[in-house]
Amino acid sequence: MIDESRLYSIPILCRKPLCDVCEWAETRHYLKQTSQLYSYEPTPFFREPCHYMSDLSGTSCVVIKTPAQSGKSLSIMNFLGWMAEFYPSNTLLVLDSKTQGLKLSQNRIRPFLREICGINNPNNTRNKSPDKSNSVANIGLRSGANLYIASAKSASDSKSTPARFVLLDEVDAYPNDINGEGDPVTLFTQRLKRFRGMAVMTSTPTTAEGAITANWKLGTAQTWGVVCECGQWMPVKYDDIDFTGTVPTIHCPHCGVVYSEDDVKELNHCYNAPTNDDPLKDDFGRIRRSYEITAPLCHSFVSWESLKRQEIAALSLGENSYKSFRNTVLGECYTPKEEIQVEVPELMRLSQASYTHDCLPFDIAFIVCGVDTHDKCLYCETVGFSEDLKRMFGLRYDVLVGDPDEKEVWQQFYDIFNAVYTREDGKLMRSAFAFVDSGGHRTNSVYAQHYRNRRIMPVKGMVSNSKNAADPLVGKQQKLKMNGGLKGRCTVQFVGVNAGKDELSNAELLTIAGDKRLNYLKGYGYNPEYFKGLLSEKKIDGKWIAPQKGHTHNEPLDCRVYAMACASYYLNKYYLTGLDSEEVEMAKKSKKQEEIKDTEKPVEQVEEEVKKPVSDKHESKDERSEKVKKFPHW
Ligand SMILES: [Zn+2]
Repeated sequence: MIDESRLYSIPILCRKPLCDVCEWAETRHYLKQTSQLYSYEPTPFFREPCHYMSDLSGTSCVVIKTPAQSGKSLSIMNFLGWMAEFYPSNTLLVLDSKTQGLKLSQNRIRPFLREICGINNPNNTRNKSPDKSNSVANIGLRSGANLYIASAKSASDSKSTPARFVLLDEVDAYPNDINGEGDPVTLFTQRLKRFRGMAVMTSTPTTAEGAITANWKLGTAQTWGVVCECGQWMPVKYDDIDFTGTVPTIHCPHCGVVYSEDDVKELNHCYNAPTNDDPLKDDFGRIRRSYEITAPLCHSFVSWESLKRQEIAALSLGENSYKSFRNTVLGECYTPKEEIQVEVPELMRLSQASYTHDCLPFDIAFIVCGVDTHDKCLYCETVGFSEDLKRMFGLRYDVLVGDPDEKEVWQQFYDIFNAVYTREDGKLMRSAFAFVDSGGHRTNSVYAQHYRNRRIMPVKGMVSNSKNAADPLVGKQQKLKMNGGLKGRCTVQFVGVNAGKDELSNAELLTIAGDKRLNYLKGYGYNPEYFKGLLSEKKIDGKWIAPQKGHTHNEPLDCRVYAMACASYYLNKYYLTGLDSEEVEMAKKSKKQEEIKDTEKPVEQVEEEVKKPVSDKHESKDERSEKVKKFPHW
């Protein structure tokens, strides 16, 4: 039994703690839930940082960057317990808000001190300060020392009593500045300047500029990892895990050996040697130690598969969910989605599919074309879409050489447009609709095709200058009066290209993440050049920036965006109405022509006609004249 009165009468400099924080926890800290002593086994990564929290002679500050829910609060409790037993001194516990602090004090700290450390603090005895605005909550420790609970938002808290120990929890949630007086981390740590004390800083990270990452870099900057069979230490970062196989794996960057998650669990886990040769020192020459813990090594809490599931769910929920996934679940900094670089080989590998033109996946509900018009050629992509438009299946990408003012190139286009594909259930399919760029090149020739075939819609891309006002993917339509040989009106559809690019880049990210939104056939124009073009534009400050002239061609991107707009238009206007575009057009015309009051009849007749998905060669004179006979308006 330790004679406490003797212990505290020893002069401060001679007094040695009887044990470090880890030993204290493993011999004194009974966990209420399990009625067992605290163990570092589920959270081995806290052992070293906790050890150095009690190294008052050589360490000035311990920084821990960790995913949420990894047992960080218990580590702080252990430090409090150790401190209350061996060094009862004024201590400042700083949280991002006062409510947060009071909750923690009420629910965890007071019960902990009472039950584990035998320090009883009747509620509110010490907090009857006449100054109600004083947001510091006090908890009495032994020997007249106090634990002050402070808010990182309060300037007065940051100027309160000097403290020997400062515990800063969730520092990335602190404001950057309190009332123009400086950042809370600096203000609060100044409280311990006069003492050979200790600062403990913990947080889940936010961005690379956040307080925890900045402070981690100033310290020894160590990361929790494993020792490979080759003897080299390796980190296990989420982004390095390969999820393409049957089980996720990671390979050693030194020797290339591949490990599954179970293999990794068997390896020796430890921190790497300090990566910062010159960690920050205080006035006493004591150094700052900093540690980083990555989610894939928090084996007791998450599996790699579950991390992947959470990532996919977060990505489909949007930017904010993805951000909190990176920060709290992974414990990693967040990079805005638009800054994530999707690499060509990676996208090519992960989107490659095994269907053929004679056996398309059942998921394809309909097929459309997106066409980009140039002076000397047409770029045309044929894409299958699932009914919810979430999955896209590239069928072919063609560069049709020829001036769109001449007939020949359109002949090539119609051959592709009318090509017949077979779905795995036997259904014959062909392109239902096409959006053809009429924005700058050969405009009148594109309009002429619209006359010829109403399943071809001239489109114009629209890009609003303001980055906040996003245009919808499928915008308004405009009726144009035609001059010259083409009498009558022509419809032009506006397409919000930025919305399409956003949607596409999201599909790319999800595909990389393992949710295969994009699928491509091998061959049929889907070569590395195609993928380079697809990824040629970058979003910078909310704006899509096209590659410089003479560099990568961005036609694959334009074609796909037109095809996506086309799919969305076709889905709402025709597919969901239960009628193919051709059927609708035909129904309308038959109705006009025959003036039959019974509307059912002509549709039925026409349906029968159209259900035969024969490629009605538009160039074949016989068929065309037959059609014209039936529908003289064409
Ligand atoms: Zn190795």
